[in-house]
Amino acid sequence: MARYLQDVHGLIFHHQRFHEADVLAQMLTKEAGFLTVIIHGALKQNSRLAGASVNFSSGTYIIMTSGHGLSTLRNVKSSQQFEYLFSDLTANAYASYLLDLTRHAFVEYEPIGAYYDLIMEVLQRLDQKQDPELLTQLVQLQLLPAYGVGPQFAHCVYGPESRGMPFDYSIQAGGVICQRHFSQAARMHLPAQATALLRTLALVPIKQLGQITIKADTKQATRKAIDRIYGETLDLDLKSKRFLDELRLSEF
Ligand SMILES: [Zn+2]
Repeated sequence: MARYLQDVHGLIFHHQRFHEADVLAQMLTKEAGFLTVIIHGALKQNSRLAGASVNFSSGTYIIMTSGHGLSTLRNVKSSQQFEYLFSDLTANAYASYLLDLTRHAFVEYEPIGAYYDLIMEVLQRLDQKQDPELLTQLVQLQLLPAYGVGPQFAHCVYGPESRGMPFDYSIQAGGVICQRHFSQAARMHLPAQATALLRTLALVPIKQLGQITIKADTKQATRKAIDRIYGETLDLDLKSKRFLDELRLSEF
């Protein structure tokens, strides 16, 4: 298949040594979704590309590609680094997991649409040390439709109720249920504030998410709920998730 040069905007993440001095890197691009590039000579001293293509850098790149398989990074037009994501182990683990989770919802070279802006905005906020737990839960919830799981968060699964009473979440019903319909399906028995937080994170456009402070036990309840939703509806076993879980355990 013909190869051609293409300008892409995006992010470089997950470096892996390849051959003597080359690197294979994952990229998330606006134009072509997730793809893998080879960076020739990236491990050589004085490599023109090495400094501009470190992990967690974003910018404008020129790749040689055929639209599938392995592409080649040919040039870096401009780039800047997410320094905190690069250097902080915990921030790095959150960012890596989010990228891994997003990557698995799409095939290579498939543009990911509005999710591109979501992910770039979240990475920027992680880099600015905003609450990684809330940002991660927001992405997990907002990605569910990309996985073909589109839970109902806007109103009760069984009716138009959207406010004014406690809500709970039901995996069986596929969304939130209001107190009036609690007897209709097996439910998680979440505290009402936890369901409210799930709904906010699932529905809020990222640009409108201000700095909010949430109690630790509420965040923990929503984290467990999201893990159950993923565990019971999707068959995913991501190494990046297991690593993040271990890291979070060690923090308590
Ligand atoms: Zn209802």
